[in-house]
Amino acid sequence: MKILFLDQSGKPGGAELCLIDIAKPYQNNCLVGLFADGSFKDLLEKNQIPVEVLTNQKIQVKKESSLTQGLASITQLAPLITKVVKIARNYDLIYANTQKALVVGAIASFLSGRPLVFHLHDILSPEHFSQTNRRIAVTLANRAKLVIANSQASKKAFIEAGGKAELVKIVYNGFDPQNYLNQESQIKQLRQKLELDDKFIVGHFSRLAPWKGQHILIEALAKCPPEVVVILVGDALFGEQDYVKQLHQQIDELQLQNRVKFLGFRHDIPQLMAACDLVAHTSTAPEPFGRVIVEAMLSGTPVVAAASGGAIELVQSGINGFLSTPGNPQELTKVINSCIQDKQKTAAIAETARNTASQRFNVANINQQIAQLLQKL
Ligand code: UDP
Repeated sequence: MKILFLDQSGKPGGAELCLIDIAKPYQNNCLVGLFADGSFKDLLEKNQIPVEVLTNQKIQVKKESSLTQGLASITQLAPLITKVVKIARNYDLIYANTQKALVVGAIASFLSGRPLVFHLHDILSPEHFSQTNRRIAVTLANRAKLVIANSQASKKAFIEAGGKAELVKIVYNGFDPQNYLNQESQIKQLRQKLELDDKFIVGHFSRLAPWKGQHILIEALAKCPPEVVVILVGDALFGEQDYVKQLHQQIDELQLQNRVKFLGFRHDIPQLMAACDLVAHTSTAPEPFGRVIVEAMLSGTPVVAAASGGAIELVQSGINGFLSTPGNPQELTKVINSCIQDKQKTAAIAETARNTASQRFNVANINQQIAQLLQKL
């Protein structure tokens, strides 16, 4: 089967990292068409997945766009759509991996006669998308042959926004557990390199964005014992510079300059996670899936997640991790303190998480599920 994957992003967010794993088995029979140049293209090339940047024009529509802005951007997309239609004729199906890819992919599917698959990585709720964008997304997705939702939470929001339930299949993100096995000596070295070897390290792995809630962790840190430090791993991928400024200001006000490190975007996530004593996920809006939660589990590091959206499908509090109320720093402080106090119980929870996650999210099983769904088309 020949697949034309479409993705709007030049930068590797969660949806893009997931696409690498999905496209890999088709690397001799696929093309990933991107709507922006950037480091995601380099990552695809590194994984020997054919990739082409299809446009250099910035697509103006934003998550909160109005109807007129939305329609104006569709006319702006005409050259890109023409190009995609031409390419699609050489492929068996179009696989749209993001919202803007869905817009282009749906129109190209209609014009080229190739079936459309939409991989839904988002929660189509008012917290994340304007009413216009939700309407456009469900109207177009309802024309697809298949909608793959990355969690129950994403599926539920899709149906509530008007999406057809019968089109949707849930497939979680897949991971190769081998990539998360680390040598103890290497991890010790990394802790030393970070100059944090005698500290209790809480890691936050996410792009810097208000709804990812790094500020909640900083607030929680202020009430933790002095040996607790935080590393913030990730960058402001989509221009959230004001939020970065706010975080620095908050850290200064709380006098936590010596206890918070910004590491920027990193490619050594498994090692960094293993170097942490706890991974904190603190999204204040429902997380569609939460790759970082599973990655922490596979790294053998205990994880505390904000109890909402896809996160509650991944974590059973006290069994394979901890859940904490979104936006509640006091509760987070309590979880951090209990992990420090009861190291043995916390380690046992992390071990259970590693074992179950290696099975449940194994990329080989997940890819098989996707292959079977695509085969049926
Ligand atoms: N990530 C990364 N480098 C960083 C920060 C994050 O590679 O510096 C990865 C992280 O390991 C995860 C993904 O980015 O695989 C984020 O996915 P998630 O589902 O947690 O959030 P999203 O970005 O999709 O909202």
